[in-house]
Amino acid sequence: MEYILLGAGSIQVTTAVMQYGYRIIDDLKAGLNLYLAEKGFSSVEEARGLALGSVSETTDVLERDTVVFPKFHREKCIGCGRCVISCADGGHQAIHLSEDRWPILDGKKCVGCHLCVLVCPERAISSSRKRIRKRN
Ligand code: SF4
Ligand code: SF4
Repeated sequence: MEYILLGAGSIQVTTAVMQYGYRIIDDLKAGLNLYLAEKGFSSVEEARGLALGSVSETTDVLERDTVVFPKFHREKCIGCGRCVISCADGGHQAIHLSEDRWPILDGKKCVGCHLCVLVCPERAISSSRKRIRKRN
């Protein structure tokens, strides 16, 4: 929806299909229709591009000092290591497993992308409170 609000006329979905199968398309359509109905739009086209006026021409206005760290829940974690692999290959190499297979976060490397939250099969990772990272 964010892409559509920024003017996109078509959306490519790849990883979600790999993870959930083609049924995710029905879920995406249902979610999109629900959103449109809740916001009072009668079509996708009505909403397309509405956020363009909010786009800044410079990145200087972006707040870059806040990182929302992942929070690991030991009672749910099964030590599978998926969060470690995803962060290592698709994130910032900010997690390693302890000897008893408990995820350990390196707060200096984590950028708060939440890829680890998305891949955890046990929903054992949530968002922690925002913390301020001082710029170098
Ligand atoms: S939020 Fe991103 S960078 Fe931080 S630990 Fe998770 S995957 Fe790695
Ligand atoms: S992906 Fe989830 S269950 Fe697996 S090690 Fe990480 S936190 Fe634990």
